[in-house]
Amino acid sequence: MITSDAKRIGGVRHPAPRQALRSALRTPRLKVGPSRLSRYIQAVAFAGADYQLAWPRDVFRAEATYFLERLQTAQPDWSDRVAFMLEEAFAGPAPRDDFMAAATSGLLPGGQDAQELLLGDLIKRADSLAPASPPKPYWPDRHGARSPHLASTQSAQRRWVRLVGQFHTRGYLDNAFPGVCVDDHTSDRVDESEILEEHLGIPELWPLQQSLPWDNETWFGLIEVLHDLVARPRRRWWHPYAGCGWHYSEFAIEPARRLYRWKTNQLLDLCAVRLRLATEGEDTGRLVARTDEARGELLDRLLTNAGPAVSERISHAIALFRARDATIEDKRSAAIALAGILEERRPLLRERLFRKDEGALFQIANEFDIRHRSASQKSDYDPAFLDWIFWWYAGTVELTESLLAQRRSSDMQLHPP
Ligand SMILES: [Zn+2]
Repeated sequence: MITSDAKRIGGVRHPAPRQALRSALRTPRLKVGPSRLSRYIQAVAFAGADYQLAWPRDVFRAEATYFLERLQTAQPDWSDRVAFMLEEAFAGPAPRDDFMAAATSGLLPGGQDAQELLLGDLIKRADSLAPASPPKPYWPDRHGARSPHLASTQSAQRRWVRLVGQFHTRGYLDNAFPGVCVDDHTSDRVDESEILEEHLGIPELWPLQQSLPWDNETWFGLIEVLHDLVARPRRRWWHPYAGCGWHYSEFAIEPARRLYRWKTNQLLDLCAVRLRLATEGEDTGRLVARTDEARGELLDRLLTNAGPAVSERISHAIALFRARDATIEDKRSAAIALAGILEERRPLLRERLFRKDEGALFQIANEFDIRHRSASQKSDYDPAFLDWIFWWYAGTVELTESLLAQRRSSDMQLHPP
């Protein structure tokens, strides 16, 4: 919500409010009060393209919440760590600068509370912050002079190497490949190629730039190994001696992997390889067959929302079905697993969906050789049928999940705990 204050000092996405506020904050006769504080927050949280999120919202929310709730804000370098995070999470430097300014402005006694307040407010506003999006289409695209095309594998590999380079520059690989400090005369330098060879059995892969181009098997292997190696440093310090540079520490694995999956998947979506890194389920971080967005979301919903009684089976069925090298047998097993869950929910299906004959749902599985093999069954069908049956069952399992959730909520209303 934008208050009249915010409008008066500039309104949405206007850079002026921040400058106005900075100069106001430098005024020594400043009297601290809630209205002034909220006006500060209104102004900074709406201030233009710098405030576009460069991270997915959920990653930002989780990481910012960690700093706000899990770390002692009185720690001497709390501000620096948060500033380092804001620098990464947003498209421009303004959020970091505003955050640092809150400490020195005297907005609240000690400044620290103003920083906490600002960070808390950014978390609350995460849903309304604009995501950093690709640039609007340029002239040739707007005027139909260029037809949409997919990146070639070689160009996608080069882009991915640049992406890994960005992670490396920000210290995300320092946990796996620690740099050696100029003052450290005892540690051996880690051989990156050796580590990659341990995982993939292929020598001389690092530096990546120099081992390009790769065959697909090597590239896909590298994508998966790097997923497992990245970790986000939550702390850094600058060592100026002999140009030593940044030293990173306190590595967090989860935010790094989520960011890596998100960025790598964006890149894979632009190329002809129909694969992406799974983001949920037992195959998280492994390349799986890419489907259209709607079906991908259906699987993510199933993996996220499935009740404890079935979640493991669903996760396994999905991993089998979408594995990069899934065979007909794997897909058949995946469909059988989902059919089994539906079978257990027959009474629910009969009561809520089919009224008379829920058997129709299972007839197709039986006829197409999925559950019971016999001479009368059709086993020479096109494998596309298996895909169709899997998606049909996956959609039906999701439907039963929401029927069960409805039932639970009406039970709660009738019999509150
Ligand atoms: Zn050093």
